[in-house]
Amino acid sequence: MADYPVIYMDNNATTQVAPEVFEAMTPYLTELYGNPSSMHTFGGQVGNALEKARQQVATLLGAYPDEIIFTSCGTESDSTAVLSALRSFPEKRHIITSKVEHPAILNLSENLEVMTGRRYRVTALKVDSTGRIDLQEYEDALSDDTAIVSMMWANNETGNIYPVKEMAQMAKKRGILFHTDSVQAVGKVPINLAELDVDFLSMSGHKLHAPKGTGILYVRRGTPYVPFLTGGHQEGGRRGGTENVASIVALGKACEMAGARMEEENTRVKALRDSLEAGLLQSVPKSILNGDRENRLPNTTNISFEMVEGEAILLHMNLYNICASSGSACTSGSLEPSHVLRAMDVPFTAAHGSVRFSLSTYNTEEEIDFVLEKMPGIIETLRDLSPFWNG
Ligand SMILES: *Cc1c(COP(=O)(O)O)cnc(C)c1O
Repeated sequence: MADYPVIYMDNNATTQVAPEVFEAMTPYLTELYGNPSSMHTFGGQVGNALEKARQQVATLLGAYPDEIIFTSCGTESDSTAVLSALRSFPEKRHIITSKVEHPAILNLSENLEVMTGRRYRVTALKVDSTGRIDLQEYEDALSDDTAIVSMMWANNETGNIYPVKEMAQMAKKRGILFHTDSVQAVGKVPINLAELDVDFLSMSGHKLHAPKGTGILYVRRGTPYVPFLTGGHQEGGRRGGTENVASIVALGKACEMAGARMEEENTRVKALRDSLEAGLLQSVPKSILNGDRENRLPNTTNISFEMVEGEAILLHMNLYNICASSGSACTSGSLEPSHVLRAMDVPFTAAHGSVRFSLSTYNTEEEIDFVLEKMPGIIETLRDLSPFWNG
């Protein structure tokens, strides 16, 4: 077993640090250790590196560099955006989000009273069986009491892409702030904030071939903003705490590479995903695609194998060193099916047997072939053991 090379198809959980990214960051872990806020030249050159990274991020997103705030992760960016809006408009007591958000937004929206000491009404938009939301339901939910809308750009489990452009427009018309968790979308779909009515956007470094523990929050010029971490004057007073310089340099480099690789992501990586998906659906009986076949990320496929447990499938895949996820990484360990599949009303027998494959630029055709060779046997073995399976 240990002889199988790792086949990594879990890129929506985290990604490999790109070698070029690692190379760009290492000087800031060794000789260039100055504090970017220092007055001396030695620290100042580190400050210059931060500003270069800010420019690289801004270029990928179609933003101004001064709209980019470096944070510690996507989760921090999500919390900062939502809590900022609630503090900017303390009289407004309603927020709109969806039932398929990442726990970073879902758990926050369920704990607003604890976080703020005020009570909020939360509208979590429903989705249909393919994971799509209803724009009419959304429009009807917008009210003068709404402080912020938080809608993910792309879902981490199904890859579904949401109509952020239209939704932001509709919020803007009503004078309501709009945040999008774009952790999964950045680098996989083109984003041009100059053309959107988005006020806040979150992203994370480690989903984009930069290291874990770094993220950004985009805040549109002119959008009211209240910091989450107050302290020193870092980030123009918008986020206290000495910057994670090496990782920020890495994130900048990763953004530059993501821009250059977007085309490949949407052609070669997408073709690999499509052949994996078609092969599995064809070779494994009673397998079903979860999510929106058309409108989704190029790297993700989520497939249910009826009458088997996702965890059991993963353990068998693990014997071949094939890495994927069942449900979402945050909910595995419990036997509850993922909240995303439950929101889509995926039948119990299928929701339990879901596996998410998420690819990256580092996957190869040979890997797809190997997975396609092994998966039918894995599912058949498990079904033979199942008291519920009768072919
Ligand atoms: C991974 C992820 C997050 C959390 O990002 P971290 O940097 O791990 O905190 C938030 N939203 C989505 C959609 C994600 O996939």
